Amino acid sequence: MMARQSLLPRWMHRLYAKFRGYFWLPCPICGRPFGGHEKGGTLLRDVFNGWMVCRGCTDEAERRNRRNGFIPPPWRRISPIGPTA
Ligand SMILES: [Zn+2]
Repeated sequence: MMARQSLLPRWMHRLYAKFRGYFWLPCPICGRPFGGHEKGGTLLRDVFNGWMVCRGCTDEAERRNRRNGFIPPPWRRISPIGPTA
């Protein structure tokens, strides 16, 4: 099942991200732009690094993480850019 998307229009999310200093980047799975405040899942690249994904792709990211053998530690905030960000 797909996670429900926010009811707010995308341009409002974009403005919110801009003014609150959150990132605004395309989701690595579906390519849909989303903001750092939207708190989707994490697609892991290895045990310690990964990309945030949009809410709609949270389930898919978890499937891929499991398939790749990665379990995201729940306490960790992972940068959308990577380890050098
Ligand atoms: Zn997505």
